[in-house]
Amino acid sequence: MRITYACPACAATVMVDRIESRTALECPACHAAVEIPGEAIAPGPPPRLRRCIVCPSSELFVRKDFPQRLGIAIVVAGLAASCVAWACRELVITFAILFGTALIDVALYLFMPDCLSCYRCGARYRGEGITGTFGGFDLETHEKHRQQLARMRGGSRASPSEASHGS
Ligand SMILES: [Zn+2]
Ligand SMILES: [Zn+2]
Repeated sequence: MRITYACPACAATVMVDRIESRTALECPACHAAVEIPGEAIAPGPPPRLRRCIVCPSSELFVRKDFPQRLGIAIVVAGLAASCVAWACRELVITFAILFGTALIDVALYLFMPDCLSCYRCGARYRGEGITGTFGGFDLETHEKHRQQLARMRGGSRASPSEASHGS
C-alpha cells in the first residue's frame, strides 16, 4: 500500500511505499514523523486499511485514480481537432473525432485503478488492501468534514454543544 499525503508540519507532498511494513512515516523535507497507529491497518493478506493514518478520521472514500487534468486535456484536444475538421467541412471526421474522444475518456476511466482518499486530510492510498472497507464518495460526509475544517480555521470559537453534536 502506498500513501500520498500533505505533511502536517510543512505541507510538503510526501509519498511513502509499503506503509503496512512501517511503524511511522517521515517527511523528507522537514523530517516530521507521523506514527502509524497499530489498529489502522488490519493484518492481511492483503493488509487492509481501517482508518486514515495521517489524521484520526475513519471516513475515507474510493475514487478512480484518474488525473483530472489529463481527462480535461483529452476533451479539449478532441474539441479543438473537431473544430478544425468542421472548418474543413469534414463532417464524418468531425464526429469521428468527437466519438473517439469520448471513447478514450470512458476507456481510461474503466482501466484506471481505484484509490482511497481521506475526506478530512486528503491523504491518498493506493495499492492492495484499499478496497472492501470503504464506499464511494458521499457528498454529505464531504460537507461535514468541510465545515469542520472551516470551523477549525476560524479559530477555537466553536461552541461545545456544536462539537458534541454528532449524527
Ligand atoms: Zn514536512
Ligand atoms: Zn486523513
